[in-house]
Amino acid sequence: MKKLVADRMSVIDASGIRKVFALAAELKDPINFSIGQPDFDVPEPLKREAIKAIEGGMNRYSQTAGEKELMDKIVAQATTEFGWDHPAVLVASGVSGGLLLAFLAMINPGDEVIIPDPYFVIYKHVVNLLGGKCVFVDSYPDFRLPVEKIAAAITDRTKMIILNSPCNPTGIVYSPAEVEALAKVAAEKDVLVLTDEIYEQFSYDAPATSIANYYENVLVMRGFSKSYAMTGWRLAYVAAPASLRPIIEEMTKIQQYTFVCAPTPFQRAAVAAMSYDVSGLVRDYIRKRDMIYDGLKDKFELSKPQGAFYAFVKAPGQSGSEFVKRVIQNNVLVIPGNVFSEKDTHFRISFATTDENIQKGIDILRRLA
Ligand code: PMP
Repeated sequence: MKKLVADRMSVIDASGIRKVFALAAELKDPINFSIGQPDFDVPEPLKREAIKAIEGGMNRYSQTAGEKELMDKIVAQATTEFGWDHPAVLVASGVSGGLLLAFLAMINPGDEVIIPDPYFVIYKHVVNLLGGKCVFVDSYPDFRLPVEKIAAAITDRTKMIILNSPCNPTGIVYSPAEVEALAKVAAEKDVLVLTDEIYEQFSYDAPATSIANYYENVLVMRGFSKSYAMTGWRLAYVAAPASLRPIIEEMTKIQQYTFVCAPTPFQRAAVAAMSYDVSGLVRDYIRKRDMIYDGLKDKFELSKPQGAFYAFVKAPGQSGSEFVKRVIQNNVLVIPGNVFSEKDTHFRISFATTDENIQKGIDILRRLA
């Protein structure tokens, strides 16, 4: 088998998460705090758009970069929101697809990618797969944006800085001042910022601020998976100012030879999704966030989640993975922090579940604290 597997596979390690799933497989009806997707279903009007598209025969390949109507809508939004003139856009198969295309198009072996730690898992593994070097910048204990440490980490080999706000796994939303400070640092060194804004609509205390408001050398990635609960529809987009069109074109070239296009009928539904109001759903998530935070804050060390649907909680008295073992033995599924970090001190709770489950999970966790 060794002969068949490419050498590059040795840099991907899925053992952390596999161990959790192996433990979880033994549980009957666990309280599941491990899922990274909303607990509501795709809103009815958006489902109807997709069904209409399928029944109307929109079942073939789309243009590589996306359906015109959707692309026009994304261009209009990026123009209004960021003040960009003729932005470049690409519709991708999820933000995961967009990230793969961006990394393939830009990362040479040895290139450095600066990533605040904790981080969303995909970044590390795909950068490593391509021979890039992840430069992790510690954001513990409060998970605020470590702007000065990022500035100190920039070298001649730095290819990009990755920003993810609202953040998976910490639930932190960077303030306008933090984002602006990073924009200044990046501008001084002329480093590209890849900003993963998939949770943009799930920001609970104030709107999330995009770095694209302060800086032009950015690739913005936004997705439909989380905001409209369509994780299985595989839809997202990448937007950049016209000056970065050559990068978007390289990414589109790779899409042509890999994904070919994002799913066509769902692109039609995405046009409707972009005008769909999710504020009611967001209100539900504020309630869930409050339940988790208020339920745990006197027993555990945690920063109040401000966005996404995660809380990143310090494990009491032992390593994150040891504590997670105990939690899982007590029928609650959480993910150890070392899946998202170079440290093993925390665990991640996803509160994208029913209020009833949240309450049951809180009760169990409090007993274990
Ligand atoms: N970025 C972040 C921060 C995420 O949490 C996720 C999903 N867990 C993704 C990107 C990928 O989402 P998708 O490929 O479904 O768009």
